[in-house]
Amino acid sequence: GLSPEAYRRRHEITVTGDDVPPPLTSFSSSGLPSEILREVQNAGFSAPTPIQAQSWPIALQSRDIVAIAKTGSGKTLGYLIPAFIHLKRTGNDPRMGPTALVLSPTRELATQIQDEAVKFGKSSKITCACLYGGAPKGPQLRDIDRGADIVVATPGRLNDILEMRRITLNQISYLVLDEADRMLDMGFEPQIRKIVNEVPARRQTLMYTATWPKEVRKIAADLLVNPVQVNIGNVD
Ligand code: ADP
Ligand code: MG
Repeated sequence: GLSPEAYRRRHEITVTGDDVPPPLTSFSSSGLPSEILREVQNAGFSAPTPIQAQSWPIALQSRDIVAIAKTGSGKTLGYLIPAFIHLKRTGNDPRMGPTALVLSPTRELATQIQDEAVKFGKSSKITCACLYGGAPKGPQLRDIDRGADIVVATPGRLNDILEMRRITLNQISYLVLDEADRMLDMGFEPQIRKIVNEVPARRQTLMYTATWPKEVRKIAADLLVNPVQVNIGNVD
């Protein structure tokens, strides 16, 4: 195989941070739990994508990450697979509230993330709820009440449900802001900040974005602690 430096060069990966672990360039040598490897094998994936290869080992060290990579690079499993392992490590009871929270800008994206979580988390017995606007709250509240390890939500609907006091975020220790740039473009910043105020400060935070403008840098500086920055390609 390639050295970590050669792999990063070949895949245009740039990393910024202290002691960044080498990328996990193959599934067989990844050390991922067998139930997760079984699911990626079922999906027919031959190797981690560059964003996965580099973000998994960082996330598995429980460090904060800001990852800048374009659409279609495999970011979802980049944060979901470490989420599954985090859930296993905590051993939390989902009936006490979710342990992982993924914020997503739209209903469509939130549903895609949930589908991926259900598919790849099946062998790991992960439970998931998906909260988004434009649909009745009843079934979403029912999924929360049943106990969800992971909640995937759009900021508006999650705030509505928080105001109804029908969900608690006090057990969250793994927070993902997916498509952060798009969420800010859509005006979700106040809602994101209200939500994060309800999440314990002692947590791991991962932010994924396709672009890296001033507004995104600012919210990253406010919400992440000493993050490792991973860039794929020439995005900025
Ligand atoms: P992004 O969030 O970066 O836009 P996605 O996470 O939606 O990208 O992934 C894009 C597609 O690639 C999805 O269909 C996903 O199932 C697939 N995919 C993810 N990881 C791999 C992999 N390691 N090998 C092949 N395909 C993958
Ligand atoms: Mg995505």
